[in-house]
Amino acid sequence: MRPVDRHETIDALRTALREARQAGQSVGVVPTMGYLHDGHLELVRRARAENDRVVVTIFVNPTQFGPNEDFSTYPRDMERDLALLDAAKVDAVFTPGVEAMYPQPLQTTISLKPLGDMLIGKVRPGHFSGVATVVAKLFNIVQPTRAYFGEKDFQQLTVIRRMVQDLNFPVEIVGVPTVREADGLAMSSRNVRLSPDDRRAARVLSAALAEGAAMIEAGEGDAARVVAQMTTTIAAEPGVALRSLDICDSRDLSVVERIDRPVVMLVTAEVGPVLLIDQREARPV
Ligand code: AMP
Repeated sequence: MRPVDRHETIDALRTALREARQAGQSVGVVPTMGYLHDGHLELVRRARAENDRVVVTIFVNPTQFGPNEDFSTYPRDMERDLALLDAAKVDAVFTPGVEAMYPQPLQTTISLKPLGDMLIGKVRPGHFSGVATVVAKLFNIVQPTRAYFGEKDFQQLTVIRRMVQDLNFPVEIVGVPTVREADGLAMSSRNVRLSPDDRRAARVLSAALAEGAAMIEAGEGDAARVVAQMTTTIAAEPGVALRSLDICDSRDLSVVERIDRPVVMLVTAEVGPVLLIDQREARPV
């Protein structure tokens, strides 16, 4: 088996991509924080199908974690990740250390107002500024033709799309539908930290989203009624503490009262030690 081409420095990655760029080949990038699961690999498969070269980045970015969040306990397994990416036939894996990405404190950052401060931005202040800034850096390092992001992190996808429009990054953003476990739980690297009881309780999130979608698709137009029903469903599961639940316009994430256009339901909940997020889109009849 060929060992996957791994680069830890920006120069090494740029050298590896130079030939492809000179030959006019397309480059797809999949930014991740590692501890890969089938959701990540779905992004890789899309990138593989649509580009000449595929780069996956693995970087647990400290600037997108708050002081009381799980940066130090975030799961990591580089050897396993590299084997999975080798099997997925990616061309290069970029695994910078914190020193390579932040050799000096940044004076330049990107924040989106109001998009980065609302919804999950309220639960995690500063998070989307950390995300937007590191993704901008990765775009400048890799200079991809296309970049792949999961719809599971719907607000993140919206933030990146908006940043690319506002700052004219020459990259096409591709959103990929959420990959789920057989019982509906959205795949996440953080799921490994759920105890067996937490893991069972976590099913209620996708179940509540399915219930909300069914109400909307059956003609319920009052967002407050949908939110109330979903809140009741989630509250019946004692292992789950709801942190936020919003029904938003799918395009700009403004919170809607009347469901008269395509919407996305966004949920954030604490399950045991883990903050889980999930999402589902729905269209009124
Ligand atoms: P992360 O490593 O959690 O930062 O995720 C890296 C990328 O994979 C992001 O664009 C996520 O939205 C995407 N992703 C994570 N989980 C899933 C999933 N279950 N289905 C599809 N994409 C996902």
